[in-house]
Amino acid sequence: MASDSTIEECRRHVDSLLESRDHSGLRKTSYPSNSLRFLQHLSSQEIQNDKPLQAKIKLKIIIVGAGLGGLSTAIALQRRGHTVTVFERAPELGEVGAGIQIPPNSSRLLLKWGLLPFLEGKQNEPAAIRMRRWQDGSVVGLTQLVPDFKEKFGAPYYVVHRANLQLAMYRMAADLGVEIRTGAGVKTYSDEGSRVVLDNGRVEEADLVVGADGIKSEARKVVLGGEDQPPHKAGFAAYRAMVDAEKMRDDPDVSWLLDSPGQNLWVGDKRHVMTYTIAGGKSFNMVLSHPEDSDPSTWRQETAVADMKAHFQGWDPQLFKVIKMIEETLKWPLLSGKPLKRWVSSSCNLLVLGDAAHPMVPYMSEGAAMAVEDGAALAEVLSLITSHNQLQFALGVFERVRILRTGQMQEASLVNGKLWHFADGPEQRARDVAMKAEVEGRPVIESPNQWSDPVTQRWAYGYDAEKEVADAWKDFVGEGSKL
Ligand SMILES: Cc1cc2nc3c(=O)[nH]c(=O)nc-3n(C[C@H](O)[C@H](O)[C@H](O)COP(=O)(O)OP(=O)(O)OC[C@H]3O[C@@H](n4cnc5c(N)ncnc54)[C@H](O)[C@@H]3O)c2cc1C
Repeated sequence: MASDSTIEECRRHVDSLLESRDHSGLRKTSYPSNSLRFLQHLSSQEIQNDKPLQAKIKLKIIIVGAGLGGLSTAIALQRRGHTVTVFERAPELGEVGAGIQIPPNSSRLLLKWGLLPFLEGKQNEPAAIRMRRWQDGSVVGLTQLVPDFKEKFGAPYYVVHRANLQLAMYRMAADLGVEIRTGAGVKTYSDEGSRVVLDNGRVEEADLVVGADGIKSEARKVVLGGEDQPPHKAGFAAYRAMVDAEKMRDDPDVSWLLDSPGQNLWVGDKRHVMTYTIAGGKSFNMVLSHPEDSDPSTWRQETAVADMKAHFQGWDPQLFKVIKMIEETLKWPLLSGKPLKRWVSSSCNLLVLGDAAHPMVPYMSEGAAMAVEDGAALAEVLSLITSHNQLQFALGVFERVRILRTGQMQEASLVNGKLWHFADGPEQRARDVAMKAEVEGRPVIESPNQWSDPVTQRWAYGYDAEKEVADAWKDFVGEGSKL
């Protein structure tokens, strides 16, 4: 078992290594260099060897939670040769009936792991993201996704129904040999020994316990030594809804939204509406964000549809026509968190990841993508250790690299909220003028639109979670770069 001071030293060391990198995350140059990035990529394992590096130290790992975070981590670990068991409290898997975006930093990993056949063509690839003015739907920002994103970041930008993604992950994990036990809640975590007690009183042991138990995580409390750092209300809530595409197809005012598969985002005063088609074009997915500070226990499901319509009264008539087609909606509180002090318990037996570790508002569409990166980074660093004694350091490196990355994504998500929610006025006009080049198809050197801005794009979508943690590990153990 590791002493607290040892992992503390590891944390300080890795933090100083990460700080000595420049802002773009490039290593060993003091200026941002895409040429260096290219050279590093050539020397990476991915290019030289298609097969995943098998762990030399094979571990028995318990994962708590079969959400997108728990399942993707299970896949990432099992394919490296670890033995993984997932405990899920719900009697059956049940992601909410809504869409989810899979940006390239996540799709690159999922495709590399071989998830595509399990998705069975249920994914859609939107051609572009159009940012539209709230009042009339005119395009004020434009990010071309096809072919640009695949060319730039080596992976597509997908959208998919959540249930399809979760089922694909579940099937793939089971195929790899992961044991997934539903109806098996964990009642208590122990920081002494990697052990959990289930709701039915059974004790389960492993070499490591991963708490992927979501935003209300109990594991987080244990990791933080009993003093929880729960997320706070972001001042917004989102209505989630799906409209039957058949209904829209009959109306020429709105059927154009289905014709070219793309994401459309209407932005206005403190509100926005994100839309895209999923389920092979059969459903139109909508997320309608609006200001909300009240306690969710006071919300009334019976009035949700009417309340939602009232929020968007006076918006683009074409959008409002689709809003009027919504028959059912679910109102969801939006929460945000600050980076935790640590993700790994002092005994190094328990760690948290996914929403348990980094809750964020969904405005970068990166919450689950971060969980996929977490799983990839954990599996990568654990495949690099050569003795049990190194486990605590590997976890320390994982923790520092991931806290930095996910903390930045929490920030970027909040920044989108600021950029999208201007009331009409000088700030909104300045933003729209600054996005004119992308709308007119001219080269974009910089943009307030974080999806289009080359610097933010590279950081968000070009990020390679496995490489980043492997580089940090190499630096930590002193091998240095191959260059
Ligand atoms: C409106 C909205 C839109 C979003 N859009 C996107 C998007 O487009 N792209 C994106 O990447 N992200 C998006 N996100 C974020 C994404 O949904 C989450 O980040 C992600 O689903 C979190 O996954 P998780 O596995 O960490 O947690 P969860 O999905 O919460 O899973 C936790 C699991 O643990 C189980 N559990 C909890 N406690 C226990 C216990 N004690 N024992 C056993 N099981 C337990 C729960 O039952 C649950 O199944 C969005 C979020 C919202 C709110």
